Amino acid sequence: MAVCNSKYPVGSPQEHIQMCENHGLPIDLVCEDCHIFICSTCAKTDHSGHNWVTQGVAASQRRKGLLKFLRDIKEVQLPKVDERIIKKKAENERTCESQMKNVEKHFNEIIAKLTDIRDRKEEVLKSNLRKKNEHLAIEKSRMDKEKKQLIEMVKYTWRRTVEPYLIRTS
Ligand SMILES: [Zn+2]
Ligand SMILES: [Zn+2]
Repeated sequence: MAVCNSKYPVGSPQEHIQMCENHGLPIDLVCEDCHIFICSTCAKTDHSGHNWVTQGVAASQRRKGLLKFLRDIKEVQLPKVDERIIKKKAENERTCESQMKNVEKHFNEIIAKLTDIRDRKEEVLKSNLRKKNEHLAIEKSRMDKEKKQLIEMVKYTWRRTVEPYLIRTS
């Protein structure tokens, strides 16, 4: 096993070229399978058959990977988020519209009930007025009749009791 590798995990800053403790060679390769820095002899022995590349290539690959990741965020993930936000906004608007329709429906139902109550009360009041007017008409006709009878009686009494005297004295 190459003990030199564990000291230099991939990603740590390498300001000076480090030497392999096992082989005395510069550690200028990266084993992509083991994620560690190795020398060219490590690559031919312990990491033979592994996928290893030079540090320059590894850095370039990581830069490309990072750019691809950023491009994916910009071109795929962010538009997806925007799309979700637009969809959610439309959904919220639809929900609000439907709730407003329900409120409107409920309001109209209440108004219809109140209108019905008002109409029935009005009908009752009008009917009462009609009845009262009918009673009054009957009363008036009775009073008219009585008035007529009274006048007739006064005329009769006048003719029978006063008129004869008037004729004699004239
Ligand atoms: Zn080595
Ligand atoms: Zn390896």
